[in-house]
Amino acid sequence: MNLWYSKDSPSIELKSSKSILHSFIVKGYNGLTINPYQGCHHRCGYCYATYEWSPEFYDKIYAKSNAPDILENQLKSWKCEYVKPVMISSATDAYQPAELKFNLTRRCVETFQKYKFPYYVFTKSVIIERDLWLHQRYKDDCFLVWSITTCDEQLRRLIEPGTPPSHSIFQVIKKFVDAGVCCGVNIDPILPLITDSPSHIERIIDHCHNAGVHFISGAILRLRADIWERLKSIITLLGINNGTEKYKNEIYEFKEPLRAKANINAKRSYETCTLQNLKRRALEKNINFDFPDLFRRSSRPQRSNRSNSAEAQTLLLNYL
Ligand code: SF4
Repeated sequence: MNLWYSKDSPSIELKSSKSILHSFIVKGYNGLTINPYQGCHHRCGYCYATYEWSPEFYDKIYAKSNAPDILENQLKSWKCEYVKPVMISSATDAYQPAELKFNLTRRCVETFQKYKFPYYVFTKSVIIERDLWLHQRYKDDCFLVWSITTCDEQLRRLIEPGTPPSHSIFQVIKKFVDAGVCCGVNIDPILPLITDSPSHIERIIDHCHNAGVHFISGAILRLRADIWERLKSIITLLGINNGTEKYKNEIYEFKEPLRAKANINAKRSYETCTLQNLKRRALEKNINFDFPDLFRRSSRPQRSNRSNSAEAQTLLLNYL
């Protein structure tokens, strides 16, 4: 069986970057993102960040050693007085184990705070607890999102072997919630035939409820050629009967081989049914569904005008 990562722990190398804050567009939302690392120790089989330019994504981590200094320079010379919250991070996990050694994410966060930039963190990590004090002191202008796909420990070890167990993650989330930091859980990607059953999703939502999570969102796996190859390994490892055929003929409706740049969504009926179930379960537990309005709003006064902090707080917290 071909696994997507080697048996050894990932190696870590330092590299320099020319710029670190980049813009992105997703579904019409135009934002900024920063990735202090390249490659990811968490080794999720379904990862979207495994682009061709990084074939060693799971086995070699690059720590962008000058990231905080480059960021300082970029923010110091920032021209626009209006800025949207920055996504930390879009193509790696900013709180993967290498962060314990290099502190790049912590230093970048300190820089965002220094220049009064709002931000949100996407992670699967418990290491973020180290920076609880840092995010807490900025809680009116940041929020945190954990991506959690399963509370089944056996399954987690197989599909995302480098992540911490979900019960540890929820313990950390609770600490942030208790500290007054806004926390969400993104159930993404939901893997058809693997993590999409109502009971599977309900289990995650129960844990969210117990931890006091403020909002939940979710999405169905999108298939790409490299992701599909890894998914086939997972389906085989799990022994799912006719799994690959069901993916091809019933859920995604495609023929192999997948084109290199294809990005395939699950059938609309499947997606609607699964996400409606997720939304209903979340609302039954009085947890907001979907990301906050913040994502859909345009820019707001930020850097030099702190008299707008009341507005800022409203924008960030109006979904609580
Ligand atoms: S934590 Fe995120 S970036 Fe890292 S392997 Fe998993 S999905 Fe990819």
